[in-house]
Amino acid sequence: GFRRASRISAIQLSEIAQLSERAAALRAAGKDVVALSTGEPDFPTPPHVVEAAHQAALAGQTGYTATLGTPALRAAIAAEAGVSPAEVIVSTGAKQVLANAMLASLDPGDEVIMPAPYWTSYSDIVAMAGGSPVVVPCDMAQGFKLTPGQLQAAITPRSRWVMLNAPSNPSGAIYTPAEQAALAEVLRAHPQVMVLVDEIYAHLSYQPFTSFAEAAPDLKDRMLIVNGVSKAYAMTGWRIGWGIGPADMIRAMGAVQGQVTSGACSVSQAAALAALTGDQALLITRLEEMRQRRDRVVAALNAIEGIRCPAPDGAFYVFPDIRGAMAKGGFDTDADFCAALLDQQGLAIVPGRAFGLPGHARLSFAYAKEEIEAGLARIAAFVAAF
Ligand code: PLP
Repeated sequence: GFRRASRISAIQLSEIAQLSERAAALRAAGKDVVALSTGEPDFPTPPHVVEAAHQAALAGQTGYTATLGTPALRAAIAAEAGVSPAEVIVSTGAKQVLANAMLASLDPGDEVIMPAPYWTSYSDIVAMAGGSPVVVPCDMAQGFKLTPGQLQAAITPRSRWVMLNAPSNPSGAIYTPAEQAALAEVLRAHPQVMVLVDEIYAHLSYQPFTSFAEAAPDLKDRMLIVNGVSKAYAMTGWRIGWGIGPADMIRAMGAVQGQVTSGACSVSQAAALAALTGDQALLITRLEEMRQRRDRVVAALNAIEGIRCPAPDGAFYVFPDIRGAMAKGGFDTDADFCAALLDQQGLAIVPGRAFGLPGHARLSFAYAKEEIEAGLARIAAFVAAF
């Protein structure tokens, strides 16, 4: 019969996916369920992007593309980043960029430093590639950000990567240029450590955002910047992301990709090109809409006893400290709290432990206003009943 490989023995369906399934099951059973649990913009893909995909398909762009991406899309990404196309790989979502990078670089036992809270997939992708995640808790008091001292203390001879994400999913934290410079200073003394910076929420910044590539250009030969169209352009289903790194790293990632997918979808690459080269005004209007939702969600959560919610600098999540409310309700874990919230009030949010930082929960505000308001009312009612 079937037996799981040891490489994936520890990997389960993600906690977020499990929650979505539970919410769907409750809905199917006739319960009224509100989900603020996924990171998917509620906006449609812009019409001019859909049109470009349509035209590409009609024009016959329906075959395999070059493994590392179409020349046109790679060139557009390279031009925007000020690098050469040889330093760009286009993949099936930013997620595949991460997987390519880990599969291309990790040997068994190699360590990957990841500040928590981190996006849930990071630890699983590293484990699947045979690496060992080294989780460094970065709590709310330090703005959920890795300090230079913590980075220094986490580095060993086996360290291969430090994985940063700004703006962060789930905390929204953005590193200032001074903070980036301080981390870069630590890395300069440890040439065995590469730095991966996931900037997929860069266009969703409510505070000034500087790419790590600008902050530490001298680390370029061991830096991978990850980005994509999923979040900024509401294109999650098109599955286009990219990595920008040194050409030898990109070639190795391409070797992985060539055997896993042969390359990203041709029509989706045409769509991504239209998104990157077309009118960018929508990024601003959507950001302003998100900012209003953020302000509303932060204010409403802080009005609930036992919940402390800092305003995120970017992305479309809040990651409040719920320990006060947990204690009040007699919950030992954030997972118990979230499970009861779903069962009793029909609201799905994700426990902090899924991001490596218990005692918190993540609410996404990439939802319509009515759903957000319904969710906020439910969490308030849940805590008020303790
Ligand atoms: N990186 C982060 C931090 C994310 O939150 C997500 C999606 O949730 C991704 C990458 C994956 O994006 P993509 O849809 O491009 O695979």
